[in-house]
Parts: sequence; C-alpha cells; structure tokens
Amino acid sequence: MTIIESSGLSRRTLLRGTAAAGAAVAATTVVHPGAASAQPVSSPVLDAKAAARLAAIPTPEQYFGFRIGSDGKLATWDKMVPYFKLIAENSDRVRYEEVGRTTEDNEYILLTISSPQNLANLDRLVQINSRLADPRGLSPTEAEELARTGKPFYMVYAGIHSTEVGNSQATIEWAHRLATEQSEYMNQILDDLVILLVPCQNPDGIVKVNDHFVATAGTNLARTYPDLYQKYTGHDDNRDWFMLTQVESHLAVQIQNKYHPQVLQDSHQAGANSPRMFTPPYLSPYDPNIDPITVQQTDALGLAMQRGMTAAGMKGAGWGMTYDYWTPSRQYCVYHNSVRILTEAASVTNLAYPNVSNGPIGSQETSISFIEPYDKNTWTLRQIVDYVSQCFYSGIEAVAYDKYNWLFNFYRLGVKAVNRTGAYIIPAGQRDPQAVKDALDIFHRGAVEVRQAQSPFTAGGKQYPAGSYVIYLNQPYGAFAKTLLEKQEYPHLLQYPGGPPQRPYDVTAQTLPMLLGFTADFVAGSFSASTKLLTEIKPPQTTMPAAPPSSGAYAIGPESYGVFRIIARLQKQGIPTFRAASQFTDGGRIFPAGTFLVPPTDAARQILQNQGRNAGIPIHALSSVPRIAGVQLKPGTRIGLLKPANNMPAGWLMWMFDQYGVNYKIVKAQDYKNLSGRFDAIVMPSGVSRNSIVNGLNPNNYTPEWSWAFGVGEDGWNKLREFVSNGGTLIAFGSASNTAQQLFELPIESVLPTDSSVFYCPGALLSQEIDANDPVGYGMDPRHPVWFDEDRAFRVTNPDKYPVKVVAKYPDSGEQLRSGWLIGDEHLNGAVNGLSWRIGKGSLVTFGNQIAFRTWNRGEEKMIFNAMYQGPAQELTPDQFQRLGQ
Ligand SMILES: [Zn+2]
Repeated sequence: MTIIESSGLSRRTLLRGTAAAGAAVAATTVVHPGAASAQPVSSPVLDAKAAARLAAIPTPEQYFGFRIGSDGKLATWDKMVPYFKLIAENSDRVRYEEVGRTTEDNEYILLTISSPQNLANLDRLVQINSRLADPRGLSPTEAEELARTGKPFYMVYAGIHSTEVGNSQATIEWAHRLATEQSEYMNQILDDLVILLVPCQNPDGIVKVNDHFVATAGTNLARTYPDLYQKYTGHDDNRDWFMLTQVESHLAVQIQNKYHPQVLQDSHQAGANSPRMFTPPYLSPYDPNIDPITVQQTDALGLAMQRGMTAAGMKGAGWGMTYDYWTPSRQYCVYHNSVRILTEAASVTNLAYPNVSNGPIGSQETSISFIEPYDKNTWTLRQIVDYVSQCFYSGIEAVAYDKYNWLFNFYRLGVKAVNRTGAYIIPAGQRDPQAVKDALDIFHRGAVEVRQAQSPFTAGGKQYPAGSYVIYLNQPYGAFAKTLLEKQEYPHLLQYPGGPPQRPYDVTAQTLPMLLGFTADFVAGSFSASTKLLTEIKPPQTTMPAAPPSSGAYAIGPESYGVFRIIARLQKQGIPTFRAASQFTDGGRIFPAGTFLVPPTDAARQILQNQGRNAGIPIHALSSVPRIAGVQLKPGTRIGLLKPANNMPAGWLMWMFDQYGVNYKIVKAQDYKNLSGRFDAIVMPSGVSRNSIVNGLNPNNYTPEWSWAFGVGEDGWNKLREFVSNGGTLIAFGSASNTAQQLFELPIESVLPTDSSVFYCPGALLSQEIDANDPVGYGMDPRHPVWFDEDRAFRVTNPDKYPVKVVAKYPDSGEQLRSGWLIGDEHLNGAVNGLSWRIGKGSLVTFGNQIAFRTWNRGEEKMIFNAMYQGPAQELTPDQFQRLGQ
C-alpha cells in the first residue's frame, strides 16, 4: 500500500506541500530544500528501536564538524565513506554497497535508497525493470501492469570531475536527509522511486583533490591538485563512455546494466562566469541513435529542475546552451534508454572560497532559456550545494510523481529498440584480430548481444565465413552498437548562413571500425544464418606451429596492434627480436615489411604461445630466414614518456602502455641531467609544450614531491635536443609536433587556414595515405583513416635541412572526410601529416594529428609503437639478418 492511499493525501496536496516549503525557504535567502521538513510530519510511527537507530545518525554538521559547503571546508573521502556506512547501518531506507575497487584501490560505493518496503522487495523491482528494458515477448497489457507495480530507478553520481568539488559534498546531505527525514513528502518519494546514489564516480580523484586541499590549508602553496585526478584520464574520465577502458567506467556500467535506471544525473561544475546552473534541454544536435522519447524526457526532466530552482528563488539558471547531445563518449546511458541529465553549477574561487565580483556575476541579459540573471556579486560553495540539491530533489520528485509514465515510456523505448531492422556483420578472419576483439569487448560490456555464425552464410549478396560475428539491431541496446559501427553524418551547423561553424561541445565521430581498423558491413534486409549468442568474447583460436629448425625462426605479422603486447613481453624477457625491412615470402605466404622474427628458443616459444593465444594473433614458423635487410630491436628498450602535470594524452598513453606491459617511465625533471643514460626513445604527446618543459610547475607553489614536474629551464630544453642529436629517438604528435618544430627549427609550415569558417575539423576521421614500407608505418593499412581534432597539417619548406621521409599524408584530391564533420577539406589536399626525420645520430617522428587520442584510434596509435622500437634498433645487413644477428 502506498502512502497516498494510506494517508488519503492526493497528489495535488503533495505538490502544494512542496511548493509551500519552497516559498518558505526562499524567504530565508539561504535556499535549501532541507527546509521541506517544515512540512507537517505525518509519517508512519517509528517503533522505539527504529527511532533509536535514526537518532544514532549524526547530522553532517555534527559528524564533519562544519556545515557542508562552508567556505574553505571540504569533507574528505576517508570520512565520507564511514559516514555513509553509518547511515546505512542505522537506516532501513539505505543500503551501502562497495561495488568494487578503483584504479588506485579506493572504495567505489553505491547507496541504494528507497522505502523500507521497496528495499525489502528490491529483487522484484529490479526484475520488473529488466523485463520492461527487454520487452521481447511482453504484451502491452503485461507491460501496463508492470509499469503500475514497478518503481523507476534514478541513478545519480557526483564527482567524476574531482575539482568540481561541490557536488559530491552535496551527496552527504542527500544521504542524510533521505535516510532520516520523516515527512510525507519524503515518504512519498521514497515509496515511488529507487535512488541509486554514487557519491563519487571517481573516488581516487576526491582523495587526491580534497586531501591536497586540506593538506595545503594555511600555507602559501597552491590549493588545487596539479596533476591528473584519475591516474590515466584526468578530466577525460567522462569521455570514456563508449570505449569503456577505465575501472570506474566499468563499475558505473555494471550498475546501469543491473538496475536499468530510467534516469542518470551526472553532476558537474562549469566556469565561474557560466550560468549559476545549467541543466538540459541541451543544444542541437543529438545523436539520431538516441530515441526521441529519451530526448524529450531529458528536456522535460531538465525543465522540472529549472522550475524547481525558479520557484525556490534561485536565480541565474539556464538551459539550451553550450552542451549538446551528440557524442557517446560522454553518455553510455542514452543508448540504454536512460536520460542523461547533466547539471553544471558555476564554480567558485580556489575550489571552496567565495567568488566575489564587482557587480552581479555572469550574463545579465535575459532570454527565453535564461529567464532570471543572477543579481548578486558573490557566489559560494554553499550555493553550489544548494543549487545542485534543488536540481536533485526536483528531479526525484518529478520522476516519483510521474512514475507510471516513466516506466511505461521505458517499455515503449524497449519496444522501439527491439523492432529496429538490419544487422551488422563483422567478417571472420580480419587482418587485426585485436581490433575486432576490442570492439566486441565493448559491445559485450555494453550489454549488446553478439552472435557468431556457426557455418558460412550469405547476406546482402556477400558470402561470410563461419566464425563471423552478427549483431542484429532488433535488440534492446542495438543503438549502442549502431552508433559505434556506422559512419557519423554530423549536421552542418553554422552560427548564421555563411558564418563560422557552431562549435560542437565535443568531438563528432566514433566509428570503431575506422578507429581500431576492422570492417563491419551493414545489411538492411533479412538473411538467414545459423548463429550462437556469445556469453563471453574470446580471441580467434590460433594454433602454435611445430618449432622451426634452429636455422629458422618464428614469424609474427605486423598488422595487428595487439602484436605489441607480444613484443613488450619479449622485450621484458630479453628475447632477441628482429624486424624484416621488406616484404618476403615463405611457403607461399606473403609476410609484409615489418614482420617480426624471433629465433626458435624454448623461452621464445613459451611467450609466443601464451601471448599469441591471448591476442588471437597467428604465429608462423619459417624453415629459413630470408636474406633481406632488417633490424634487431634493442632488448629491454627503455621508453620515456613526457608527461607534464595534468597532461591527459600522456595519461591515456600510460594506460595503453600499462595494458601492454611496455617498459616505460615518466620523464622526470631530474632525468634531464642524463636523458640518454635513462631512455632510448621518448614519446612527447599532444599538449607537451615548450612552456611545460622549460617552466613546468612553479616550485613556489608545490612541495618537493612535485619536483618531477618542475621546469627544467633552457638547459633542460637543450638537453632534450642533444638527446636526439646524440642518437636518441623522439616521437611527437598533435600539438607537440609544434614543440618539436621549435626544438629543432623544423622546416615545416602549417597549410591550414586559421579562420574556422574556411577550415574546421573538431574531432573527425579523415582520409590518409600511409607508407606501410616505412618502419613507422609497418603493418598499417595504407588507407587507415586518421583522427583529427583541430590539429595541424604541413608542407615541408626545405627538404634539405634534415633527411626526412613522408610516412603519412592527406590524399592529393578526393574526399578527405571519412566520418564526422569537416569544413574546407580541399585545404588538406596533399598536405603532409607524418614525417620521419634524421637529426644528427638520432631520429625524430612527428605527426601533426593526434595519433593517440584517448586510446580510441588504436589502429594508428600502433605507429607510436613502431617508432619507439625502431629508433633504438640496430640495423642489420641481409647477411646479418639471415644469421639473426649472430
Ligand atoms: Zn565536469
């Protein structure tokens, strides 16, 4: 029985009750929905034991010793976690669960909050939600009944961006209030809704940022943590929602796949002069793979939050600006039929101190989506807590009060999904098994049903071998697969006709086959194939050949980027490894330039067998070694990674290196004394500038533990140049190609117009011609597309200054755009992208584009691996190669 029925209260009474509470609050200036407790309390009487348990829960102020949101005060994770546990131990409305451990082994926690009856019945409620999420075989009448008896699930997380501190602080008060408030208003909401509260989506970051803030109190040191606040991704941790690389992403996805929340509220902060609070509606465009019902419900719920803030007298909130609904990198949930509600509160000064201005803060111009400008000249952390709390309470209220429609629309979304037509086929036997496996892993984690053909079949007039993968789109989450497999057609949005482009909030392409390097065919019509649903994704089976004679070798093709997992392991064990400098044939099989050869020892066999099987990469046995030129990789090649404080591209590369077991170290300021004594090859990712090397972090602002990121001055800058000219290898890409240009005065100039109405490319996949016979391009599909995100493209101005080879360039004519959005493609015609230089005794590789972007474009990222092992390798004559260096 619901509270409404038992108390005889109508919905209208409840709404009036809340509005009255809002008005009472507004009059006190300090606006906080906590004052809803001003309503008459008429809840079921607590028994003495329950009352005693509730009384054992201290208020946040009592527990933490300050009111949440007080100037200069931040609760830390080591105190928050026990507080949440304490609440759960003493409330029958709250369940505490450690869902898993984070990248750096902190607790990733979930509070499930609802009425005691709902929590007692949680398994059944989850079952109802799962049934509505996948309505295959469910009749509309059954669905209506389930929508009547089920409860919507409202997931909310805070703190994915750790320096946006206000939101996770606010969750402390939410948990306390939801657990303890004995009001009709709260009982009603909790009876009609299950709240999945993740107080911090990035626990490692809250530990780093809040602990740093507390430790620097009362000092002259900078209060903001200076480095990546998630080990690998930093601020990019909310760009991982389709590649799903990080542990924290896995845990959030695990919750979503289990409970199927109808709502995901993702709480952020924006710049100090932004609207006091942004919520949806978003700007155009939205990804057409998001169902219109989801888009509309997003708008409706966002406006319910705006309505709540306006009624509570919270000025300066707005919608329909800055943020669009396009890239899946920021939203897993929308392809799983849940709305994504982004809230973005304006930030304060130095994380937790008031922003004080000369006049009213932010835009003072009203519009239909910004109806009441903010009229005060201060803005505090407490106000961030108040505004996001108002959004949260208005959000849960709106969904609880309209629960039937939220559930029935959820069913409708499912019905539309399972009635989609068409299928994607990923043919078996592709050149890069790792690329296929990585894509399938993403789909599998994303709850997409992947099937595998048990026998050959024909579809769309094409024959497919047994073992090919089939993804039918008529399944609940087919849209997730579709958006990742198809080419993106980004709308051509200009600020006004003939004017500059309307900047997307993020990038415009996500086509996995192009990013990773595999093929997938869309088949619109029906076809017949005998397929099996996969319950796990395994690499293709490989068979280890019999050991070749001692005069022969094992051979591994260079096509798959997964081959570098094997190479890293061989390197670690000091196993001699060679690369053929040109194509050769053996037993009728063609081996391309860059094929790896390994002398047939027992130790080598052991590694190749295990690693080859894990990666699904075939290992071959050569009865003899061809007499061609080649190189021997330097055993234990020492890789340095230039990673200034807070450099995200370097962080993503660290993740890749760690996955692959690469022998690398971060280049510390102290290392500049003797770079060649420590490193054979140094990778300089996008974002590394002359300034970040020369000046780095200011030693006046940070303790000596940060000395690795201090500047190395002109002397260090020169040392980096000498590292290369004395024989080292440097690989620079993206904006770091500019840094390399400064370092060596490279004879290149950009050919791209700077006027964005003439040339513009905000994250798209472009055509490329790659020289697969150059060591940097070994194993590449010569037409593999490249990622371009407001990057650079060149012309060589003086080919005689240094010996230089073109590794990759844009085609001289034709279509430059492969997926996403590009304005002015003719400016790329014939432009140079990847260059391989000889500088003194060393080598330099530069790419104007971001050859490694958030680990998405792994197909081209392979060229970094090629370059970093090739530079330090020893060149061998055909005679030496044939003897495998002996
Ligand atoms: Zn943010």
